[in-house]
Amino acid sequence: MSLFQQNLEKYANLAIRTGINLQEGQTLVVNASIECAPLVRLVVKKAYEAGAKNVMVEWSDDTVTRTKYELAPDEAFTEFPMWRAQGFEELAASNAAFLSIYAPNPDLLTGIDPKRIATNTKTASTAMSKYRAYLMSDRAVWSLVGHPTVEWARKVFPNAESNDDAVAKLWDVIFETTRIPAEDPVAAWQEHCDQLHKVATILNEKQYKTLAYEAPGTNFTLDLVENHIWAGGGAVSESGTPFRPNMPTEEVFTMPHKDGMNGTVRSTKPLNYGGTVIDNFSITFENGKVVDYSAEQGYETLKHLVETDEGSSRLGEVALVPHKSPISDTNLIFFNTLFDENASCHLAIGNAYPTNVQGGTKMTDEEKAASGVNQSLTHVDFMIGSAELNVDGITKDGKREPIMRNGNWAIL
Ligand code: ZN
Ligand code: ZN
Repeated sequence: MSLFQQNLEKYANLAIRTGINLQEGQTLVVNASIECAPLVRLVVKKAYEAGAKNVMVEWSDDTVTRTKYELAPDEAFTEFPMWRAQGFEELAASNAAFLSIYAPNPDLLTGIDPKRIATNTKTASTAMSKYRAYLMSDRAVWSLVGHPTVEWARKVFPNAESNDDAVAKLWDVIFETTRIPAEDPVAAWQEHCDQLHKVATILNEKQYKTLAYEAPGTNFTLDLVENHIWAGGGAVSESGTPFRPNMPTEEVFTMPHKDGMNGTVRSTKPLNYGGTVIDNFSITFENGKVVDYSAEQGYETLKHLVETDEGSSRLGEVALVPHKSPISDTNLIFFNTLFDENASCHLAIGNAYPTNVQGGTKMTDEEKAASGVNQSLTHVDFMIGSAELNVDGITKDGKREPIMRNGNWAIL
């Protein structure tokens, strides 16, 4: 067996054992595009070997997606097959796990009317909102792993000799950052996640009132919600199964108060949103709400994102990621949130994870609003970390303590 084939098998195994942590008798749903077929087949095998009851694969195809955007009438983007939404909801309710194999083409929707994309995203998020609530509150187990496409690999390695070379290079980086070269990747992940838990525990004990950010172009404070919970290194489902929603993961994250942001943040990496790149942008907040923004690239897309609904002009997640990490060390820009967000401190526009505040998963919408939990149809991370970023924690009695200096932990 070639080294690549061995790594691919280890990767499939890691996704099932560590990402999903599949339980005996559980049903698994795999979302993947047809380009990922060789990995999907291995994943299906590993899942049955781990005791899956049933494995269902939901295929998609980029060319079909693009063709629809080019040729379908406007009405096509305002309807969503409810049998599909209900099916996902039913599966989530019956304890199925969801693995998404993410093989993005960063330029897939270049030239498509951003309004069409925004309508489609809104229609799909509305239809799938109940299913999504299962995932966002960890009531269902889910995981997301990356997979190269030629277009993505070319974007990350523009100087590669050939398409195959670019894809091979991107696979190497994906394997490296998910710790596949380790003798036992499952054990390596355990150790890594224990370290992230340690940081989260320190921050949970501190219960800072405010975080203060300083970097070139960034001068920003953010209040955390009362009784916030820092999470990192994986989640635990309602039924008690530990799982890793994102592979790779390097972040610890919690919940900002929806009215608590003030000042300006500057992006440090491009953001690929729904197939369009937004780059070199700044966002200014007042009492939690976006009051101004600019972007050198993708301004219209950023505008549609911020204007999706009431909650999309506020933040729902704050994440700290050390500048020194396997992903950051590659010095690559991935044009892909799964990787870029784990190389960089980030914030998320839109919906908050209810698990990031005590009692959050049991709160009604009214209780959420009263506690400062942001609610939106959207949740989009954008990167603000760099080697020049300093973050302080401000305690309830006004004491200011360093959390990060020059992009790295000052609390470890
Ligand atoms: Zn995050
Ligand atoms: Zn996020």
